[in-house]
Amino acid sequence: LNPVPSDIDIAMAQQPKLIKDVAEELGLFNSEYELYGHYKAKINLSVLDRLKNNENGNYIVVTAKVINNLGITPTPLGEGKSTTTIGLCQALGAHLNKRVFACVRQPSQGPTFGIKGGAAGGGYSQVIPMDEFNLHLTGDIHAVVAANNLLAAAIDARMFHESTQSDTAFYNRLVPAKKGVRTFSKVMLKRLKKIGISKTNPNDLTPEEKKKFAKLDIDPETITWQRVVDTNDRFLRKITVGQGEQEQNKTRQTGFDIAVASEVMAVLALTRNIDDMRERLGNMVVANSTTGEPITCDDLGVGGALTVLMKDAIKPNLMQTLEGTPVFVHAGPFANIAHGNSSIIADQIALKLAGKPANDFEKEKGFVVTEAGFGADIGMEKFFDIKCRSSKLIPNLVVLVSTIRSLKMHGGGPEVVAGKPLGEEYQTENIKLLELGCVNMMKHIQNAKKFGVPVIVAINKFTTDTESEINLVKAKALEAGAVNVSCCEHWERGGEGCVDLAKSVIKACSEESNQFKFLYEVEDTIENKILKIAKEMYGADGVEYSELAKKKLEVYTTQGFDKLPICMAKTHLSLSHDPKLKGVPTGFTIPVRDIRASVGAGFLYPLLGTMQTMPGLSTRPCFYDVDLDPESGRVVGLF
Ligand code: ADP
Repeated sequence: LNPVPSDIDIAMAQQPKLIKDVAEELGLFNSEYELYGHYKAKINLSVLDRLKNNENGNYIVVTAKVINNLGITPTPLGEGKSTTTIGLCQALGAHLNKRVFACVRQPSQGPTFGIKGGAAGGGYSQVIPMDEFNLHLTGDIHAVVAANNLLAAAIDARMFHESTQSDTAFYNRLVPAKKGVRTFSKVMLKRLKKIGISKTNPNDLTPEEKKKFAKLDIDPETITWQRVVDTNDRFLRKITVGQGEQEQNKTRQTGFDIAVASEVMAVLALTRNIDDMRERLGNMVVANSTTGEPITCDDLGVGGALTVLMKDAIKPNLMQTLEGTPVFVHAGPFANIAHGNSSIIADQIALKLAGKPANDFEKEKGFVVTEAGFGADIGMEKFFDIKCRSSKLIPNLVVLVSTIRSLKMHGGGPEVVAGKPLGEEYQTENIKLLELGCVNMMKHIQNAKKFGVPVIVAINKFTTDTESEINLVKAKALEAGAVNVSCCEHWERGGEGCVDLAKSVIKACSEESNQFKFLYEVEDTIENKILKIAKEMYGADGVEYSELAKKKLEVYTTQGFDKLPICMAKTHLSLSHDPKLKGVPTGFTIPVRDIRASVGAGFLYPLLGTMQTMPGLSTRPCFYDVDLDPESGRVVGLF
């Protein structure tokens, strides 16, 4: 339709297929999926075992240049990565008859009710039912909240009990006697091993060993574990806990993060199987002891319980696009303090389902299109250096999404403010600004090529873009080394508007060779790894460390966490650390303010600025528009 109706109106007008029919079309057995209502299902990990001998399908990652506010009414932000991921899959599946899967992140309810809106794509390229996609889905985020907060409760309770009981009483309660016999649980044996005690009978430990085992002696100043909630609730950023009378004045300042910033979410996204998830959850470091020993979730004895809370969340969620092609929605880690990519497990399953049996010479390989959150300087770099390193899955191709309006902004166009009307420059042809801004896209193409993977540029077309503008971006993309460039109208026309891109993707997957390599080796020092990212990806001259960051370099090296990959927590609005620097900034030094560790998820994250881990609500959040239509009972106002 012209004009294109709102995202929710388009989504609601389409009657989805029953998800059991989608599952059957994919060749899944009844026992391999669990229905959550009519339009969502969870996929059992057993399918990986059944298809383990299949050759994987083609693997494509969609990323964007540095994101800007698109500034379209009401206030969506983004470059159109999700929309392009979905549009491309609709084109491949519904128009070119290929087996195809989209793998996308589950959005947090923070942005859905805050300012950005949902993440189901947009226009005629969306995941449906989009209200279920954007809200509770199948409860995975709720599981993350439950797991995260159980661990938070365990930390405070442990410190309380340790400080209010004698060493002997505490040990005897921690290792209770059942029918006169004391035994260590499995997780306790793990702790004993960690602290170098080889005895396995609780009665054999000396009083010193008992104390060393039982008293974690957490230094409250070093606790990094916060509570989480999936709401933009700014008043929870800093809180005092322990004010109840029974807690005997053992108060402590802490805070809440948004649920998707929890390390549990990053673990979910990077996990390869249930045993791996158990291991990672148990290894999460929450604080240091007063003697500098890292205290883990398993030291607190709660790793098993967290795994139980997450045992259904580990299964990817099957949904569908507006044109009935399958979508896996799974995990949604923060894109700055975490790696911002959907789950490895969903990609693994999709690649097997889209793959071909080893002895089948007829069957063609299908396609898996996965999305890397935030701009290519961060999202794509983390996709390769963190996600691919962990999954050992190598993409055939990068699709870099670009919009003409954001290139104009990088060329010096006025700042786009969410909710305010767009300036004239963005609505009418302006070749000069566009030409200046194209350098930003060109740098991103070169960055992707540093990983040895071919790049196709997708111009996500807006109705105001002109032919000369499109031709200019096409020429610049090819000049920078893209193997192809397509102008896409999937937002306006659905999969049909993206067939050209889909054909280039098919061609590139069969013709282009791939010399994949990581940007850095994990064995290198923390400083060298950071320097490499700063120089190669951002174009910085160097890196400078605050006193605090220098201290952390030392601590993590002593604790043996220096061989982890790096997850830069940087603004997505510029290639540099400064959101105001547009285009391709040069002559700058990256300031590392602090370095933190997500040991369970498996990365260190240097903070380049102040990173907000609990967004706030603005004066006019999206929730004003959201309601149930009294006549149809349908959700209105989501986008
Ligand atoms: P990203 O994944 O980069 O954050 P999204 O795909 O979520 O971006 O798109 C952000 C918003 O922009 C969505 O509301 C979507 O409807 C809108 N949008 C995307 N592409 C277009 C387009 N070509 N024309 C108009 N609106 C678009």
